[in-house]
Amino acid sequence: MAKIRTRFFIETHEVRTIKRRRFFIRAFCEECGREVSLLPPADAAFLVCQEPAEIYSWIDSKKIHSFYLNGAMPFVCLTSVCLV
Ligand SMILES: [Zn+2]
Repeated sequence: MAKIRTRFFIETHEVRTIKRRRFFIRAFCEECGREVSLLPPADAAFLVCQEPAEIYSWIDSKKIHSFYLNGAMPFVCLTSVCLV
């Protein structure tokens, strides 16, 4: 009598979702000419896989649109960040 061998292959994969509390504001960006999301530089850096220092250098060189809405903390226009 012949042996019947059954093999099972189980493939698994895992997706991890990291949820962070984000703080953003919807506001009109005059340079884009439309309503956009404004983010703190650290959150913008996280979204585009850059260091916050890089975002600040983009602000200084005016590569991205930035706003000082209420105090010293700048906000950056997400649309302009995505276009760099
Ligand atoms: Zn903009």
